[in-house]
Amino acid sequence: MGGKMVLFVYGYCDQRDCFYCPLGENRKNVTDVYANERKVEADSDVIEEAKRMDALGSSITGGEPQEALDKTCHYISLLKDEFGEDHHIHLYTGIPGGRENMRRLAEAGLDEIRFHPPLELWGDMHGTEWEDILYIAREEGLTPAFEIPGIRAEQEFLDFLDEGAAEFCNVNEFEMSDGNYRRMQQEGYELQEGHMSAVDGSKQAILDEMGDHERVYFCTSVFKDAAQHRNRLKRMAKNLRRPFDEVTEDGTLVYGKTYTPAEKFAELGVPEEFYTVKTNHVEVAWWLLEEMIEDGDVDDGEIVEQYPTFDGTVVERTPLA
Ligand code: SF4
Repeated sequence: MGGKMVLFVYGYCDQRDCFYCPLGENRKNVTDVYANERKVEADSDVIEEAKRMDALGSSITGGEPQEALDKTCHYISLLKDEFGEDHHIHLYTGIPGGRENMRRLAEAGLDEIRFHPPLELWGDMHGTEWEDILYIAREEGLTPAFEIPGIRAEQEFLDFLDEGAAEFCNVNEFEMSDGNYRRMQQEGYELQEGHMSAVDGSKQAILDEMGDHERVYFCTSVFKDAAQHRNRLKRMAKNLRRPFDEVTEDGTLVYGKTYTPAEKFAELGVPEEFYTVKTNHVEVAWWLLEEMIEDGDVDDGEIVEQYPTFDGTVVERTPLA
């Protein structure tokens, strides 16, 4: 739903080397923390970013969050202390980690842990630490689940669901990204025709063999990229909008901008909720600015469409005149 903030805590993942690892250059092997796209310099940045999007919860990701457990637990506690029990937090991990880690994560306030076992073990996970950790996580108070890339269908995940070991299994459509396309191509994977990131081959077999299980959720890359991202933007936009900003279907904000002195607006009797005065310009309801220019009350202006994100990237400027 895009209601959760994505908190990237640690870019290293020393115990795994997945050929399909999607981490891009800007995230791989960095120790920086990012809240959505915002680089975190202080704890307050994390809280601000969650407030900015009116987050319903958070998802903790990396790299491998369990390799930076102190930091991971710190942010989980921070979020729970600020937003309370209802702020649901899940964590992605590619290692089992063991009881001590599960205990510490649960104590910090983590709600749910989503495991991604190595591809080489799929089909042989019973009787290994990957089976054990599902029960251990639950004993320590976490909800254990799987989140795996849709490389191929695997019955064993359904068995874990039916045995009551795991709560659900999310399967993400197998994807190529800037970070993995070379190695993916070396392994013989190709893009689906006409698609920017989804990989050929896997989807139908997975849907056929796993899709009918009521606790398997298949997430297409189109859905993830577009819908999740757009919903997150929409939440931010609705949360941050000023009374005169329009929120678009894409989750951007639209308003008018003019260098006409602010006094002119007061002179014309424009109600205050329709504009705001900035250092060297005025921002105003776009439709009002359009009317004012048509009526000759104002000479210059443009319609600005902007992302509600921290960096406020402008999507488009349309001059009016
Ligand atoms: S476990 Fe995840 S972060 Fe680690 S190498 Fe594999 S895909 Fe990348």
